[in-house]
Amino acid sequence: MPITITLPDGSPLRLPEGATGREAAGAIGRRLAEAAVAVKVDAELRDLSVPLADGASLEVITADSDTGRHILRHSASHVLAQAVLGLFPGTRYAIGPAIEDGFYYDFDIGRAFTPEDLEAIEARMTEIVAADQPFVREVVTKDEALRVFADQPFKREIIESVDESEVAEGVRVTLYRNRDFVDLCRGPHLPSTGRLPAFKLLRAAGAYWRGDEHRPQLQRIYGTAWESPAALADYLHRLEEARRRDHRRLGPELDLFSFPPELGSGLAIWHPKGATVREAMEDYSRRTHRAHGYELVASPHIARAHLWEQSGHLGFYAESMYPIMELDDGDRYVLKPMNCPFHILIYQSRARSYRELPLRFFELGTVYRYERSGVVHGLLRARGFTQDDSHIFCMESQIDEELKGLLDFSLMVLRDFGFDQFEADLSTRPEKFVGRPELWDRATVALAGALEASGLSYSVAEGEGAFYGPKIDLHVRDAIGRRWQLTTLQVDFGLPANFQLEYATTANTRERPVMIHRALFGAVERFFGVLLEHTAGALPGWLCPVQATVVPVADRHREYAGRVAASLAGQGLRVEVDLADETVGEKIRRALTQKHPAVLVVGDRDLDAGTVGLRLRGEDEERGVPLADAARRLTEFCRAPR
Ligand SMILES: [Zn+2]
Ligand SMILES: [Zn+2]
Repeated sequence: MPITITLPDGSPLRLPEGATGREAAGAIGRRLAEAAVAVKVDAELRDLSVPLADGASLEVITADSDTGRHILRHSASHVLAQAVLGLFPGTRYAIGPAIEDGFYYDFDIGRAFTPEDLEAIEARMTEIVAADQPFVREVVTKDEALRVFADQPFKREIIESVDESEVAEGVRVTLYRNRDFVDLCRGPHLPSTGRLPAFKLLRAAGAYWRGDEHRPQLQRIYGTAWESPAALADYLHRLEEARRRDHRRLGPELDLFSFPPELGSGLAIWHPKGATVREAMEDYSRRTHRAHGYELVASPHIARAHLWEQSGHLGFYAESMYPIMELDDGDRYVLKPMNCPFHILIYQSRARSYRELPLRFFELGTVYRYERSGVVHGLLRARGFTQDDSHIFCMESQIDEELKGLLDFSLMVLRDFGFDQFEADLSTRPEKFVGRPELWDRATVALAGALEASGLSYSVAEGEGAFYGPKIDLHVRDAIGRRWQLTTLQVDFGLPANFQLEYATTANTRERPVMIHRALFGAVERFFGVLLEHTAGALPGWLCPVQATVVPVADRHREYAGRVAASLAGQGLRVEVDLADETVGEKIRRALTQKHPAVLVVGDRDLDAGTVGLRLRGEDEERGVPLADAARRLTEFCRAPR
């Protein structure tokens, strides 16, 4: 009896009885069959070898899709474990999932892996791939599985705690075997190791079993795998670019900031040059906020625990807060993780009328959040940082217009710093929420409307909003295609209720305002870190700590160099004269590696003619440029966007 299955476009496909996923792919097209790594049968991922049932729906998964790469990478992790077990008998192996852009596997071999180990392992993996060993699925009972892994304590622990999500199908456990290697696994897998076209091991690092620092320390090997050697080469190039742009390297190299261990994890000190950039960013921020109808406020770094109880933070946000400080009079204080309650106290400092709304309070507010040391990442995920934070208090009827204006303001800021690719997520009402449903709907429609009006592409994260309100997260793509979340616009129906905020209406009744939290940079530190990586250190001219370096060709030009520098400085530019005892070439090279946007070389002819040799970022060197001319071009290059 032939069977009929349904393809994703709804069309039927007739196949002989017992036909497998692979045969179905072959019946659709030879090239599809070659690219196929698995199938989705009735929305469930399965191996290509699975026989299809009459009436099933079928989707062929190819290696160049996200799901396909995931399967590829997971299969590569088996090959990695197989290679390690072959080379280091007695190794205990733990888990090996696919992750974004790659995979890892955790081992207990009693020591750390060396770079030579990784080379040997990669070579062994290449042999296993060349041997084209089929991956064979087996379904066994829990007891059988425990016997298979008799001397593998991590595997036994997983089997003992058998959980549908990891390996089980009911009380049965699935294994995948290739040659002498066996692993606990739900699958699906590539049909055979030979279908792994391109992989590379990247590094080894320590990792705790189950991520728990009280459990054994294991050795994790990270690798990556792709659908083709070209895709792998592409990825390795992106990785190299990311390394070159890493702000944790650029910060000290450009003398901007550093993370001395004495200071503590997740905390940075800003050197004079970094602080200069920061000043330019913060000045911009204050200036543009004032121009957009915000009032600047300021608040302290600690507050009574009682305030955080009332705001609810000590309830739902306590994990991210530092421990409570008990004072000798028994009063309890906490370092602030957010600025919101302070701005609420300002709102409450007197009676408010509808005439004042919307009220927009703005603060460059430094907050402290506890992050586990494993997730701290330079300026991008720090334990102390300064938000360009605002709280807007408005009437329900003002939400639409306020949000639209806010989104325009946000995009303006991002564009001013040179970002031009945006994506947005709109997070909507979760199951548990506070506030009236119709108010949620109104705010969500307003957020979506603002997104539509801005022409941004956005996706809706259904039910992913915080319990107190819907929000928009804005992401930018950087120069090498990475996505960073920076701006957040968060509507809040919760805090106005917790603090019983009110305003007097036209009829002199009392109404509750709606609150909007928003940070446009997000945090000054994080934004700066992303900007450094985006620009690879070559910041926009107006942010450069040194905007021009003047290089005298010989000692006799020093005096003139000083005059050139003074003239530029007089026009508001940040200028350095390089008087080091080095050649002109060395000085120019240093200015360029320090990413200074302009180098002005002055020699005999310049001295007589009142000119300079000008090398402006992105342009060829030009000799004999009149000083006034150079100053004009340089000022233009370094002009702040507004
Ligand atoms: Zn597996
Ligand atoms: Zn807030």
